[in-house]
Amino acid sequence: MTSTHVLGDGCASLMLASRANELPGHDVTVVQPAAAPEAKDHMLGFWGTPDLAFATRHARHAWPNWSIITASSHATLTSTAHPYHAMHKLEYLKGAKKAAIEHGVSFIDESEHHASSPSMVFDTRPPRAPTGAMLQHFAGMEVEVDRPVFDPQTAILMDFRVDQSHGMHFMYVLPFSPTRALLESTMFSTTVMPSEYYREAIEAYLFRHHNANIQQVISKEQGVIPMGSLGLHDPAIPGLGANGGAIRPASGYTFAFIHQQIEEAVERVKNGKPLKFTRPHKRVDVWMDSVLLAVLRHWPQQGPILFGRMAQSLSGEEFIRFMSGKAGWRLRFKVMMAMPKLPFIRGVSKMMFSRPRKVVS
Ligand SMILES: Cc1cc2nc3c(=O)[nH]c(=O)nc-3n(C[C@H](O)[C@H](O)[C@H](O)COP(=O)(O)OP(=O)(O)OC[C@H]3O[C@@H](n4cnc5c(N)ncnc54)[C@H](O)[C@@H]3O)c2cc1C
Repeated sequence: MTSTHVLGDGCASLMLASRANELPGHDVTVVQPAAAPEAKDHMLGFWGTPDLAFATRHARHAWPNWSIITASSHATLTSTAHPYHAMHKLEYLKGAKKAAIEHGVSFIDESEHHASSPSMVFDTRPPRAPTGAMLQHFAGMEVEVDRPVFDPQTAILMDFRVDQSHGMHFMYVLPFSPTRALLESTMFSTTVMPSEYYREAIEAYLFRHHNANIQQVISKEQGVIPMGSLGLHDPAIPGLGANGGAIRPASGYTFAFIHQQIEEAVERVKNGKPLKFTRPHKRVDVWMDSVLLAVLRHWPQQGPILFGRMAQSLSGEEFIRFMSGKAGWRLRFKVMMAMPKLPFIRGVSKMMFSRPRKVVS
């Protein structure tokens, strides 16, 4: 048996551990890191494509429609076959841990890990971002409001009708009922804002665009997801999950890509090859995302135009394929043709002539 330790007990680690029965010859152990902060719950959003059926079972709500709204456009896309889902992260982790235990996975702490000598170690602790990296930073609240204003059939992925003076900024709205929704004030920029900024943005948005006021705050969540190319948590240990390059550089979506990464590794083992994890994104997608990030870094005011045009040019199924890294050349070309050309030409030149940033250690 190959003793296989996985550092971390988040999504990637437990998703792998829940499939330990598909890794013959591997004795999987999950290592709880000593320096880890207390695990906090948050909603995880993804499209319910057939490969993610294992996760849709844990979903709290599903939306057949999703919108992208700017000051001058409103696109609503639909997929009844693959609706947008959201689940509580801790709920998913609980189910995955239960499956892992059933498959004989052990859970140890870091001191026990250091006292042993596993044959293989993979690291899911957070990746390191270069100084000045583009960040997706957000804070959200699940709220009950004083009037029935939300459509529980339609998630709002991006509503740009909020303050744009500090970088690209949008509201992400997941309505669970006509009066209850999770709202996240989300920015793409290099600087995290003070927590009042996001809260005030949510209150102002609700009042201006839904004529509603918060009656009760049910829960809060916040996050900072580094975007672009990131360094390993420990350069000596191969990564998995966000630390294995699973964060989609220009969207921050990660969960579906962790599944793709693990699926590929399981297939490899089934074919008699060693367990190994590769970055689950195609090179061309990483390149396109880098250009988009360069545009958003230098010309954030282009953000609403770019995302608005993309949503208007694609069908629901095309949008899902593009966001899930399953686009072919025809679809990529369609996305490129929908974009304003000048900002992208400038983005490519900025990317080519800017120096690589140093990874913070
Ligand atoms: C608030 C929030 C909302 C998100 N929403 C979405 C979404 O809707 N859809 C989506 O696809 N992705 C979303 N993400 C991205 C999300 O992080 C990933 O989908 C997923 O959790 C990554 O899994 P992972 O195993 O790589 O990392 P994690 O699940 O974060 O696990 C990391 C592991 O490292 C440990 N750790 C953390 N910090 C340290 C430290 N300093 N030292 C040592 N160990 C440490 C943790 O305890 C954990 O064991 C969101 C992230 C946040 C923070």
